[in-house]
Amino acid sequence: MKKISYILRLYRKMGRIDRGFLPNLAALVILDSLHPLNGVYFLYYIVRSLETGLNLRAVSLGLCLMGGIELLYYLAMKKLRSVNRVKSMNIRNQLAMELQQKTIRLPFQELENPETTLAQKKALEIFYPTQAEYMDFLNVLNCVQVMLFSVLQLLVLSVLLFCIHWTLVLPLLLLGTVSLWLYTIAGDKKFRVWDKELVAIGRKLSYFQELATNFSYAKEVRLYAMGGWIVSKMKGLTSSYIKGIRKSVLHFSLVGILSSLLLVLGTGISFLRLGQLTWLGVIHAADFVSCVNVVRTFEASMVRAVEAYMTIGQAMSYLQAYRQYMDFPESPRVPRTGQRLLPPGERAQGEIRFEHVSFRYPGAEDYTLKDVSFCIKPGEKVALVGENGSGKTTIIKLLLRLYRPEEGKIYWNGLDISTLALSDYRKAVTAVFQDFKILEDTARNNLCFSEQQPEERIWEVLEETGMREKVQSLPLGLDSYLGKTMYEGGQELSGGEKQKLAIARVLLRDAGMVVMDEPTAMLSPRVEYEIYTHFSQLVKGRSAIYISHRMSSCRFCDWIMVLSGGVIREKGTHEELMALDGEYCGMYTAQAKFYEEIG
Ligand code: ADP
Repeated sequence: MKKISYILRLYRKMGRIDRGFLPNLAALVILDSLHPLNGVYFLYYIVRSLETGLNLRAVSLGLCLMGGIELLYYLAMKKLRSVNRVKSMNIRNQLAMELQQKTIRLPFQELENPETTLAQKKALEIFYPTQAEYMDFLNVLNCVQVMLFSVLQLLVLSVLLFCIHWTLVLPLLLLGTVSLWLYTIAGDKKFRVWDKELVAIGRKLSYFQELATNFSYAKEVRLYAMGGWIVSKMKGLTSSYIKGIRKSVLHFSLVGILSSLLLVLGTGISFLRLGQLTWLGVIHAADFVSCVNVVRTFEASMVRAVEAYMTIGQAMSYLQAYRQYMDFPESPRVPRTGQRLLPPGERAQGEIRFEHVSFRYPGAEDYTLKDVSFCIKPGEKVALVGENGSGKTTIIKLLLRLYRPEEGKIYWNGLDISTLALSDYRKAVTAVFQDFKILEDTARNNLCFSEQQPEERIWEVLEETGMREKVQSLPLGLDSYLGKTMYEGGQELSGGEKQKLAIARVLLRDAGMVVMDEPTAMLSPRVEYEIYTHFSQLVKGRSAIYISHRMSSCRFCDWIMVLSGGVIREKGTHEELMALDGEYCGMYTAQAKFYEEIG
């Protein structure tokens, strides 16, 4: 019942996306379900004409009408089917696009929630099947259509048989139902093996296929001679896959044979009864001929209906995952209305204050940040240092409102950031990460995205980040395409050049605070040094947080914050912290010694 109501809701939605879809589908289903009546009626008519004396005119008329109706049916179905296909594709694309839009709108932390990612994977499978072609959305729609017209056809044919003689329909219905019940049980079991075991193996296999074929792994694969390891993993997985398939297919074929036997038995009994009734003269030859046709169509419709029903049933968990995914709240705990807007002046300059902020990742037992408090005044440049895993990036994620603190509050110019309109706030605080992404688009779009900037300003920032000459040397300058996947002749930049472009991108925005989360890791120490000696000039009057493992780069900041185990251990200028002779001093001295030794 739940499944039917879900399908109904889905079809209502599809009807809203394309108004012509449901009427077209109704016409298709009705025409398809009534189609067998043409043959049945005219066969009856022709044989009856022959039975009651050879009436050649009536026979030829019957044949012509039957052929004419068949032709009309064929033409109408061709048209309706092609319209249905185009409309279904349009709806599929629309729903798939809504899925992508939903992912973009989801809060960042939802994307790390296993429940969300599982629902997303399953929902994607229905639109872009990787494991089973039959799970494809268009095929599922086709199955719904097949099931509808087959069920309607079964109803019409049952009434017809019942009217001729009620005993004809009984064995078909009884044995047919048992046979289909068996078939669905076997099919469900086969699906469970597929869903629980084979899909997981399939995913792992895809991963190894990706390892073997994706260019970005090619260096590691060759360097560490990973070929043998990949092949042995794939062999193991393939043999488990085959075992799984054998298990499911064997069970399915045994029960499937029994199920088919029952259906054949039902059909056979109906045929015998038909013969008997004709022999006894209860029905005449014309009824006999039509009934043979009806019984055969009945059997075929039953098989078709159940196969379609099974596919729909199996695809259901994927369709429901789509719905579940689309229903995930987009901004939990944040009311959409009543959010304060930040005027441009408030975005361009600001003070950031963390007050007793503690945070735990969803599902984690331990706190990643514990009672963190600090204040960065407008225009101040602060370095955030600490060992890996000390919580630096987590501070930035909270600052960027990718997560919310479990305890404590963060303020921008004295305003609780959770009360500010997110789109405004993201214009006030911006960041460049170590794993930044350069898009396959023009250099200009990579720098500006949707916010167009004056040409001189772009060149000025490119100059400051040392990218002016490189961009000038590209065939179309700022309008040259980057990357080779989307555009033929696209330009490839080196890792360091991409990094500089990412830094330029963040500097172009008129944000009051810029965060640099190790964006210089790919740059040579000399280039990094150059960038950071000009750091104040680069970020101009904005506040900045800078994360780096190279302690020498932190010296250029106004003050430094040392994080360890999610707690702020030290705060102060380079000189103050060196004088303190604590963690910072230890890290700085160790690095200085290292550089002296290797230098
Ligand atoms: P840092 O930037 O200082 O290297 P992070 O802030 O990235 O440290 O991580 C701090 C701690 O939080 C680490 O122990 C890490 O394992 C944990 N952590 C980071 N991201 C997540 C996450 N998405 N889910 C659970 N734990 C996480």
